[in-house]
Amino acid sequence: MSETNKNPIKGGEFIIRKTTPEQIFTPEEWTEEQKMIGQMCDDFIAQEVTPNLDRIDKMEEGLMPSLLEKAGELGLLSLSIPEELGGMGVDFKTNMLATERLGKGHSFSVAYGAHTGIGTLPLLYYGNEEQKNKYVSKLASGEWKAAYCLTEPSAGSDANSGKTKAVLSEDGKYYSLTGQKMWITNGGFANLFTVFAKIEDDKNLTAFLVEADSEGISLNPEEKKMGIKGSSTRQVFFNNVKVPVENMLSERQNGFKIAINILNIGRIKLGGGVLGGAKMAITESIQYANEREQFGRAISKYGAIRYKIAEQAIRSFAVESALYRASQNITDATNAFIEGGMDKTKAS
Ligand SMILES: Cc1cc2nc3c(=O)[nH]c(=O)nc-3n(C[C@H](O)[C@H](O)[C@H](O)COP(=O)(O)OP(=O)(O)OC[C@H]3O[C@@H](n4cnc5c(N)ncnc54)[C@H](O)[C@@H]3O)c2cc1C
Repeated sequence: MSETNKNPIKGGEFIIRKTTPEQIFTPEEWTEEQKMIGQMCDDFIAQEVTPNLDRIDKMEEGLMPSLLEKAGELGLLSLSIPEELGGMGVDFKTNMLATERLGKGHSFSVAYGAHTGIGTLPLLYYGNEEQKNKYVSKLASGEWKAAYCLTEPSAGSDANSGKTKAVLSEDGKYYSLTGQKMWITNGGFANLFTVFAKIEDDKNLTAFLVEADSEGISLNPEEKKMGIKGSSTRQVFFNNVKVPVENMLSERQNGFKIAINILNIGRIKLGGGVLGGAKMAITESIQYANEREQFGRAISKYGAIRYKIAEQAIRSFAVESALYRASQNITDATNAFIEGGMDKTKAS
């Protein structure tokens, strides 16, 4: 283990700590096993997603859920789930590799990211043993799909200001959830929602695991979006939905912390997803520039076009370098926590 690994970077320390080139991870260092995971993702997109892009964009009934199930069969939904819970348990950096390679999948990438990220991680990181035993394997296999219900009509950036209420029943057995959530990815087919709501006049949100077939849940039609048209984005209404008290995630008022921590992971993962999309755009740009002829030559022969393609490559290379360096830093920090005796899931 390198010196950096033993003493992982903290916060913005990467700017000031003396670092040698060999301490910085680059994609040239992927192991054979990691390359195989990357190849599996490439193959999945080429065989299952790319040939079906039109059908996906038309939101053909059942297609996106079936693609998630196929990804589940290959283990792609359980990369971040520890082996003890039946997952692949790969490190953060390898997970990022899969996110990047699946980032070429247009709307599928959005459904995949929402299911494995904001959909599954609240349960994985904050669920108790009973909750994990009940739901994790279903989400890992793709049998169940997950969604994350935080945003409301008046609560976007100011997420903790949501109006959805959770009222404890007189017998103390369940909470009754009432409120409106919007722009919920995978909303149209999710089986499990992580819902953020306020109890009484609490300052902070509380998180609940809510099964989608619970009585009192209804959905608005699919949003018509400018892009990622094939990803399901719905409003979800909760009208006195009974949620057993044992489905509270973590503790009362811990929901805001859960919501923000999960979104923090989503931010860097989004970097991986868009890098995958950007690389695909470069490949397609080069193919087109070589095929398209004007004034008797392929347009790739002209300086202005070459400059644009070079800029695409330079910028993507910069994103790739920063992304995997940061991913290695996160992996190092996680490993240091584990070596210090912390539980693997908590360390993640
Ligand atoms: C395709 C899609 C999928 C989504 N999926 C989900 C999902 O699965 N689950 C979920 O819960 N939510 C989801 N969302 C919602 C998303 O998380 C919110 O859009 C996001 O939190 C921003 O909120 P908002 O859109 O209400 O923007 P607003 O909060 O209304 O912000 C509008 C603008 O004002 C700016 N602004 C706000 N406050 C300040 C400030 N204090 N200072 C300066 N500028 C400010 C913002 O930066 C932004 O530019 C999704 C949204 C989209 C578009």
